[in-house]
Amino acid sequence: MSDLRNHAEDIHEQFSDHLNVDVDDIESRLSNLVDEYKVPVDEARRSVTNHYLDEAGLERDALGGGDGSELVELAEVDEAEQWVTIEAQVVDLWEPRSDSVGQVGLLGDESGTIKFTKWAKSDLEELDAGQSYRLGNVVTDEYEGQYSVKLNRTTTIEEIDAEIEVGDDTEAVEGALVDIQSGSGLIKRCPEDDCTRVLQNGRCAEHGEGEGEFDLRVKAVIDDGNAVHESIFDQDATEELTGITLDEAKEMAMDALDTSVVADEIREEVLGGYYRVEGPTLGRYVLANDFERLGGPTDAEETLIKARSL
Ligand SMILES: [Zn+2]
Repeated sequence: MSDLRNHAEDIHEQFSDHLNVDVDDIESRLSNLVDEYKVPVDEARRSVTNHYLDEAGLERDALGGGDGSELVELAEVDEAEQWVTIEAQVVDLWEPRSDSVGQVGLLGDESGTIKFTKWAKSDLEELDAGQSYRLGNVVTDEYEGQYSVKLNRTTTIEEIDAEIEVGDDTEAVEGALVDIQSGSGLIKRCPEDDCTRVLQNGRCAEHGEGEGEFDLRVKAVIDDGNAVHESIFDQDATEELTGITLDEAKEMAMDALDTSVVADEIREEVLGGYYRVEGPTLGRYVLANDFERLGGPTDAEETLIKARSL
């Protein structure tokens, strides 16, 4: 069964008590938006649902979505496009990359953590870092094996007085930085609403060709002597790790007419160094929230560079 057919059946199910509507009809409306107008599926689904709400003269609550969705633990989220209720603490708030995103950050409960996105237009109250909430009717999403939840117009937000404990899924890795994976250095991300996928040859897997926004990151392989671990450094961490700022990286790439010079420079800077990296795990990656350099062979080179600049 096609993806759209699944969505159509879900919507059909929701309206079965209210409207006499055909699954094919719902599917063709979805398909029109998704295939003809390239609207993202979740948006198309909202739009089609709204259409039938209007047709039935119903408020969205009448569908029994509301807080009626199933309460799940964050670690149980293992499928996209599920409407669920969660109880979690706002662990971290991040800078939204797009005006259409109201808030983005990390939620945590005893089972672990998950990324969340709240649309600006969903008109929901602001979430505070450190506060625990019951969030009714959020939609799950998945990209490259990483799950997230999206707060939307139908989401209910309720403060919880007790603080929800956040399970410790942080990991610390200590060892030699033995490789920098492809996709490191100066990259471009899709500028579409809350997409942030990394462009491959100027294309987003979902939104096609686009201008893209520059970002800096390192995907490092760290060998602790027993096993190798993969770690991601975001822009801030990368700037601290390498001493190269995003602006400097852009300049380097422009001078060389090639973005790969940035990854080369980073490789030169960090390969062979010993690091301790600590942070939450996201799939197979340790996010480098905290790290320190414990020493390493490139120290000699830094001295040399300094000496040359005198
Ligand atoms: Zn995109």
